[in-house]
Amino acid sequence: MKKIYLDNNSTTQIDPIVLENMLPFFNIKYGNSSSQSHAFGWEAKAAIDIAREQIANLINAENDEIIFTSGATESNNLAINGLISYKHRESKKSNIITSTIEHKAVLDVCKKVSINGCKTIYVKPNNEGIINIEKIKNLIHENITLISIMHANNEIGTIQPIKEIGKLCEDNNIILHVDAAQSLGKIKIDVKNMKIDMLSISSHKIYGPKGVGALYIKNKKRKTKLEPIIVGGGQENNLRSGTLPTPLIVGFGKACELAFNKIQSDNQRIQKLSNKLINNILDVYPNIKLNGSREHRIPGNINLSFPFLKGLSIINSMPEIAISSGSACTSSSPAPSHVLNEIGISKIDSNTSIRIGIGRFNTDKDIEIASNSIINAIRKKI
Ligand SMILES: *Cc1c(COP(=O)(O)O)cnc(C)c1O
Repeated sequence: MKKIYLDNNSTTQIDPIVLENMLPFFNIKYGNSSSQSHAFGWEAKAAIDIAREQIANLINAENDEIIFTSGATESNNLAINGLISYKHRESKKSNIITSTIEHKAVLDVCKKVSINGCKTIYVKPNNEGIINIEKIKNLIHENITLISIMHANNEIGTIQPIKEIGKLCEDNNIILHVDAAQSLGKIKIDVKNMKIDMLSISSHKIYGPKGVGALYIKNKKRKTKLEPIIVGGGQENNLRSGTLPTPLIVGFGKACELAFNKIQSDNQRIQKLSNKLINNILDVYPNIKLNGSREHRIPGNINLSFPFLKGLSIINSMPEIAISSGSACTSSSPAPSHVLNEIGISKIDSNTSIRIGIGRFNTDKDIEIASNSIINAIRKKI
């Protein structure tokens, strides 16, 4: 049985070019980039400098604005916890605005720091999964320090109006943090043009290795001061101590360079495959529901529910197709998806929902097989 991977919003296969670039840094160029007394260290530092530039280039940042972390989860922790902790040290009142459809790695950090005079205020999306800027405007008051809104949603793929939110934040002297783990490499990110102060990104969502990511921190006015979460050797400008994982960083850099060069061709191809899959299923079952805006969504993400299945999940009837169940987004917790709930999907419909994530390495053939499997799985349930 050929397995077909259609869960690219969870993680992606490493691009072979990325892997090839990483390999020498495990067993030949294995120096510590902090060792500046010999050539092994210089070699590692030079490779990390190149990666930093490749990453900065993809989001239009400066090289020294990139802080390496272990992934977007850590970046979100450093951004939100780091900022609020710093404000507390200065004894400043600081509240947060975020959305109800953020990734848990934002929601749980906001919850954790919402003590000692820090409150988090939540803004809801509309039924298309889009956050209305007017709703944020109405929540702004003088003690809002931070607005944290994701660029693209990991379950339903919807894209938020970050540029407008950036303008709003600038006008009100509020720091804007954006979780861009799902949008990086799929839609254009320009931190300058979008007026983003902090941006969380991850390597393994863009065909790079797992265990590495970055936090972009704007350093123009140096208004974004953070308290580090991990202290020690003082690497990364004292913001994230620990020896830098050279192979992972080299891979992340290469993945960003490939994403920069391929963004258009990848998108076109992936969009075509998405349309084909949706249309194949719609042809047979016109009553399926696409969750989240069809127009404002990242290419490759398809989140479907099947109202006529009355809560029955089709996911276990097609073990050869790797997709996610929409109801258990964070697969370790079987609770109904908070995102689907927020866009008005009933519990019973959210139990039927599936998330398909098409990526760079999927083929026409994959889509054909997956369409047939899904159609057959539905047929067996009704
Ligand atoms: C995957 C993801 C994360 C977590 O990223 P890791 O690098 O796996 O820690 C955070 N936010 C969003 C939106 C994601 O999709």
